[in-house]
Amino acid sequence: MWPLISSHVNDVFERGKFSHGRKVAEFERAMASFTGARHAIAVNSGTDALVILLRAAGVGPGDEVIVPAFTFFASASAVTMAGATPVFADITDDGAYALDPASVEAAITERTRAVLPVHLFCQPADMGALMDLARRRDLMVLEDSAEAVGMRWDGTHAGLIGSGGVLSFFPTKTLGALGDAGMILTDDDRTAEEASVLRHHGRMGRTIDHIAGISNLSRVSGTNSKMDDIQAAVLMAKLSRLDEDIRRRSVLADAYTERLRGADGVLAVPRLVPRAVPVDPVFYVYLVEVERRDELAEHLAGRGIGTETYYPRPLHTQPCYAGRQAPGSLPRAEAACRRTLALPLYPDLTEEQVDTVCAAISDFYARGPR
Ligand SMILES: *Cc1c(COP(=O)(O)O)cnc(C)c1O
Repeated sequence: MWPLISSHVNDVFERGKFSHGRKVAEFERAMASFTGARHAIAVNSGTDALVILLRAAGVGPGDEVIVPAFTFFASASAVTMAGATPVFADITDDGAYALDPASVEAAITERTRAVLPVHLFCQPADMGALMDLARRRDLMVLEDSAEAVGMRWDGTHAGLIGSGGVLSFFPTKTLGALGDAGMILTDDDRTAEEASVLRHHGRMGRTIDHIAGISNLSRVSGTNSKMDDIQAAVLMAKLSRLDEDIRRRSVLADAYTERLRGADGVLAVPRLVPRAVPVDPVFYVYLVEVERRDELAEHLAGRGIGTETYYPRPLHTQPCYAGRQAPGSLPRAEAACRRTLALPLYPDLTEEQVDTVCAAISDFYARGPR
């Protein structure tokens, strides 16, 4: 991998343009082709991609956006940063850990502008039901597909099922840079035009009044959210191995599942939800539900095994959002926050290491509670 990365990085050095240059444009074209998006707009993080997408799609003050209570904080904070209000809905308990259409329907008010499904861990949210609901209630669907590179719903890449989505290239993501980077995906020309203006102060200080058809929103102010060419170079190199990495992740996930299904203390292993249309899963995270989650994480850390709790706290109980939706009101999101643990998963992991992790888990439960 390093020779390929350094060859792309060398291109950048030779051209001497380190921000928003030709390597970024090359990577945008490569991602448009990988995802099938009409527009792939590079920005400096997945979080910025969400804020810019929401603003570009016209979401702003006075609007409510329905977000799952079980997701990364940025799914909600981006709505706040765009000037709108996140309203939290519960998730399903079928294994997708994603927005429950019935809970979304119950959360709709006359201010609801958009629904923001999040595709987490290994598979997309129930986009069939969510798109039907959005059409019926005249709502926009914007996807937090930050984790979902390579996931497809009936052949359509995540982020392009609704009106637009995002990708994060944070180092730990399936396609990771060596720092922060992100992208907006959309098939909508107007949203794309708005987003590319917003990411760069209305294009390098040119008076944006001169650009035809730009809404008042982007006239107000943009931001500086450009992708570094060095990161685009790293990502170009890693993109050439993405399909192989995705296959390797799936082999490792199967190895975990074979060892952990039905094991003591393990309440659930990942379940791919059967859908009416074909779905392409991608194992970004291998997530289990376990008894005594925090103690297990500590035990594994003691053996040098790093785990993550995705996500430790439901968003409606985060201090900045507390008070509007009572603790206990979104029980499936709350249960997921208590029970889930992500085990190590990256393409260079070996099957022996999977054995070691699973043996450490079985030792922990064999010892019983302290
Ligand atoms: C990673 C992630 C983000 C944010 O991406 P950054 O590039 O870290 O800003 C947003 N939403 C979800 C669901 C994510 O997993």
